Amino acid sequence: MEQVLGHLGVDPSKGLSTGEVGVRLARYGQNRLPDPPRKSLWVRLFGQLANPLVLTLLGAALIAVVVGVSTHGDQGFLTKFGDAIAILLIVIVNAVLGFVQESRAEAALDALKSMTAPTARVRRNGDVTVVNADELVPGDMLEIEAGDFVPADARLLQTIDFAAEEAALTGESAPAGKDARQPVADDMPLAERSTMVFLGTTVVRGKGRAVVVATGSQTELGKIGEMIASTPDEKTPLEQRLESFGRRILWACLGISLLLFAWGMIKGGRAWHELLLEAVSFAVAAIPEGLPAITTITLALGMQRMAKKGAVVRKLLAVETLGAASIICTDKTGTLTQNEMTVRFVFASFRRYRVTGEGYDPRGHLQADGSPPVDQAPQSAVEGKLPPTLDYLLATAALCTNATLEIDNDTQRWKVIGDPTEGALLTLAAKGGRAKESVALSHTVVRELPFDSDRKRMTVVTLDQHGREVAHVKGSLDVLLSLCVKIATDEGVRGMTDDDRARVQGEADKMSGDALRVLAIARRVRPSVDNPEEALTLLGIVGMKDPPRAGVKEAIRTCRDAGIRIVMITGDHPITAVAIARELELWTDGDEAITGSELSKMSEDELRARAMRLRIFARTTAEQKLRIVNAFRALDHVVAMTGDGVNDAPALKQAHIGVAMGRSGTDVARQAADLVLADDNFATVVDAIREGRSIYRNIQKFIFFLLSSNAGLAVAVFVVSFIKGALPPTPLQILWINLVTNGLPALALGVDPPDPGHMKEQPRPSKAGLLGARDFFGVGFVGVVMGLAAAGLYVFPPEAAHGDIGFIRAMAFTLLALSPLFHAFSCRSQTRSIVSQRPFISLPLLLACVISAAVHLVAVLVPALRPVFRTFPMAESEWFLVIGLSFAIIPAVEILKAITRARAT
Ligand code: ATP
Repeated sequence: MEQVLGHLGVDPSKGLSTGEVGVRLARYGQNRLPDPPRKSLWVRLFGQLANPLVLTLLGAALIAVVVGVSTHGDQGFLTKFGDAIAILLIVIVNAVLGFVQESRAEAALDALKSMTAPTARVRRNGDVTVVNADELVPGDMLEIEAGDFVPADARLLQTIDFAAEEAALTGESAPAGKDARQPVADDMPLAERSTMVFLGTTVVRGKGRAVVVATGSQTELGKIGEMIASTPDEKTPLEQRLESFGRRILWACLGISLLLFAWGMIKGGRAWHELLLEAVSFAVAAIPEGLPAITTITLALGMQRMAKKGAVVRKLLAVETLGAASIICTDKTGTLTQNEMTVRFVFASFRRYRVTGEGYDPRGHLQADGSPPVDQAPQSAVEGKLPPTLDYLLATAALCTNATLEIDNDTQRWKVIGDPTEGALLTLAAKGGRAKESVALSHTVVRELPFDSDRKRMTVVTLDQHGREVAHVKGSLDVLLSLCVKIATDEGVRGMTDDDRARVQGEADKMSGDALRVLAIARRVRPSVDNPEEALTLLGIVGMKDPPRAGVKEAIRTCRDAGIRIVMITGDHPITAVAIARELELWTDGDEAITGSELSKMSEDELRARAMRLRIFARTTAEQKLRIVNAFRALDHVVAMTGDGVNDAPALKQAHIGVAMGRSGTDVARQAADLVLADDNFATVVDAIREGRSIYRNIQKFIFFLLSSNAGLAVAVFVVSFIKGALPPTPLQILWINLVTNGLPALALGVDPPDPGHMKEQPRPSKAGLLGARDFFGVGFVGVVMGLAAAGLYVFPPEAAHGDIGFIRAMAFTLLALSPLFHAFSCRSQTRSIVSQRPFISLPLLLACVISAAVHLVAVLVPALRPVFRTFPMAESEWFLVIGLSFAIIPAVEILKAITRARAT
């Protein structure tokens, strides 16, 4: 071990200095495995073209060229090849747009990834700090514990009950026990090297200290050249559904266009290649090509918005699932509450002490009920004037800990480094003059049994100044009471009677009823080596306050309005949990709370039958979380579940939306989660659900918009060519509308501001399709209205047209381009009338429609483009007619909405 440290040139008590880290970083490079090669710009740009729709468009352009070449007469180049050039231009514009959107989505995802990049705790310049894992260098002193990713290859120097899961490296999924003191031979296989930990593995038990020996590509994982499992590009169910939906429309449209072609051939009078061009382009034009790209960008932008609010989505899938969440299973400590603990009461030797002071500030007093304050003793005095039981209790509180208190340089307030529960106990000890630093002078730590949520206790064995081993134990009262056989009083230690137990329990219940978290403190002199936690002496209990987080009460109210049920799953005592639930107005009449042990006696059927009445699961183990998720899943709920420990990972994976804590959570929990909360706050989950709902709505809005506008085009073409036998809008005109003028409003609908009423509605049923029967009826209705308005121009041509079919077609073109721009405003709500939509104005949509209208006007008004788009100058009255007919879609849809609303009431 010394050899390794000497070789790496590091003093384990101080770690490396900042300067030395810089030197080594320059020599060894960043601790990062090489990124997988990215696709080049050109490959990605051309990738946009390798899509059946674009290929069909290219086919259409080719046919257009053939048509141009075979057209006789002396028309200009633009008139002959205008269609082909324009189709090609549209293909290029579409490819560039797709490329830009893809890059933006990718950049957004990359930014999110870096927000959840792994970090490492290292000792540098004598202090433990958290650094980005890629800044580690050989020689860095690592502190690792259960739940951490191992950030580099490292030699263990110290281990406490340590085990790592090394499947990524050895293929062996059972945890490998590690012991820093074991000897190792050079030729030992990786799986058996019990003094080493490796990059890409995770710590599943215990904690340890290690010195980094290799980073980046020098690590075992780097040498194998394998990447750590990165999340593969996944398509969300929504995208998959859209793709298959798109394919079905493609076939339907190809069928219709074949019919159109056959009809034209039977009727005769037109060249076959012209008909073919029309048929192919019609098919392509009737398909909403923009859909997948707009969906991806909407999801990606939504993720960015969520990230700004502190909810980092790790899987695209979560964005759409979030909107359907109907149950949130949440932790209590740190999520609903601040996890800023302050001890308010101590009960020792059957005396109750009130504790004054705020936060982790060690200024404050302990005051026995009915007597003057126990004065703050000098910091160095371990043997002060405290009553003996209280003295032992405070000393145990100061020793059984991994936390430390320090003053924050920025805020000048005291803060805890480590577990807040332990911080509260350190503060308490300091208030009684038993600061950790002074108590530790006379004790040497020999062993530790770390805290774990399932054991609900922690023990530190020390050697005191008399050379005796003493076990210092703290944990939940229910667990410790069963381990204690004696009780300490100021008159001496004696066997614990049932009456003693009842008195302590009664005091604890009182504290719990005041929403205090109760911890018991015990010790044992000369504990047994096998089990230092048996036959303990109870020193007393403490009750600590953990105030609710700001904003949580409001978030709970929002969930109630939104039909989302909140269930508290906590390791804490049921009485404390209920008291906090009441404080937060989470607890309502008829609610029930059960404990983990009651839960373990219930059958699955019983659990399911009671599940919707159970508000609190207290004293649960991580394994039981999985049962709870499954019970709600079986009841067809969409479940979001929060968690932070290693043991929570299976439940996080099993929930529809696993939510991990960004600050206090372990790497393992974060890796298993779909959503990571940067601020660990429950209110942020609710914000994310709000955003998820609005994104889903927006996707529904633009799909409805695109499909219904396309239906309008399809009906127009169909009626004009089939029924009237006249010239329908040209393929280019249809493409123009479909890809150019409709694109922006669809994108704008994707970022439509959320309707404040969203969180007043019930969650959407988990199995509901994207569009319902009513929406499809709406698509058909809009298609008929828009299509017939355009066809009406052919049937009742305005006088000024003098029967010129080309002129009528140009009017129909403008009508079909402008009508969707009006229609888009109706699409903001499926039921609310256009004047009662909230917020009333959507700026992005207004801007998008104005730009689209302006772009269309360019095609109509610029003389050079007229031959390409087959447009003509129109008189004022014709403009009025076209705009009037375009606008007609608004009242038509309003009538439909009014009927829907009337039927719903
Ligand atoms: P939640 O599950 O909502 O976060 P919790 O913090 O009470 O609630 P755990 O952290 O699993 O849940 O703790 C379970 C119990 O273990 C606590 O109620 C407390 O009695 C005890 N406990 C908590 N922290 C420690 C600690 N550092 N040392 C010893 N015992 C502890």
